[in-house]
Amino acid sequence: MMRATRRLSKTKRFLLDHPYCCFCGGAELATTIDHVPPKACFPEGHSPEEFEFPACEQCNGESRRDDQLFGFYAQLLDFNESNRTPADVAKITKLRDSISHNFPDALPDASTARPVYNVGSVITPSPLAIEVRTPSLFREPIETLERKLTHALYYRETGRALSKTHSFLSEFYQPQGSSDVLTKYLVGLLPDKTIGGRSNVKNYGERFGYRSGWKEVEDFFMYIAQFGKGLIVWGIVLGPNTKISESANYLRARPWRKAGCREKVPETWGEDFVDSPNTTD
Ligand SMILES: [Zn+2]
Repeated sequence: MMRATRRLSKTKRFLLDHPYCCFCGGAELATTIDHVPPKACFPEGHSPEEFEFPACEQCNGESRRDDQLFGFYAQLLDFNESNRTPADVAKITKLRDSISHNFPDALPDASTARPVYNVGSVITPSPLAIEVRTPSLFREPIETLERKLTHALYYRETGRALSKTHSFLSEFYQPQGSSDVLTKYLVGLLPDKTIGGRSNVKNYGERFGYRSGWKEVEDFFMYIAQFGKGLIVWGIVLGPNTKISESANYLRARPWRKAGCREKVPETWGEDFVDSPNTTD
């Protein structure tokens, strides 16, 4: 009984400090605490408290399936052996069982498995890993994660919710071989190293970390986040008066989304969405 009371007051206290949902424009009253990254990315009991965000019922509830699927794939793609504790393995097994029961089409297709013999330009005589085609159903969980992570990190770093006059771009890739060049490039673009005197590099064990920067006057925000050693998600936010320069063709051609709403990526985009962004056409 005491426990339940304390839990309730903790939520209430949190919502007093954060009255508005940070995912749908900042005008809707928050009634719940949402976890971004989702709890499914971490072993049981390890969900980081500092990644709690105010959310309305709809924003929190509508991503439940995608949260579960993203957590499963983020852990599956993580080749950091130190993230393979018994608690991690138990969580992955639990997620897999739950997904195979509720969304069987979302599990990796074992019939597409093929051995992988190289890391970048290094070729090995025996397979290093097994590659499995990611089912197309992974598109929605990653889009949801990208959108929620962009809104959450902007809120966390600036203290403001993204509004519908902001636009954002977010993409993901697996950090292998030549993609590391892109990681260095993105980190190099970050406008600031610290915000308000505190470090803006946050790590949660080896499972999640991010770097970000914000130019307040231009309202330009950028982040790069890493899930274990398997997945990198990055994003850029532009305020209403900030434009991408005419010469930045790569950025201009990307699928920008309107912030503060639950808009999906346009349907025409998607054929190449599993490629790393530095792939040449
Ligand atoms: Zn909302």
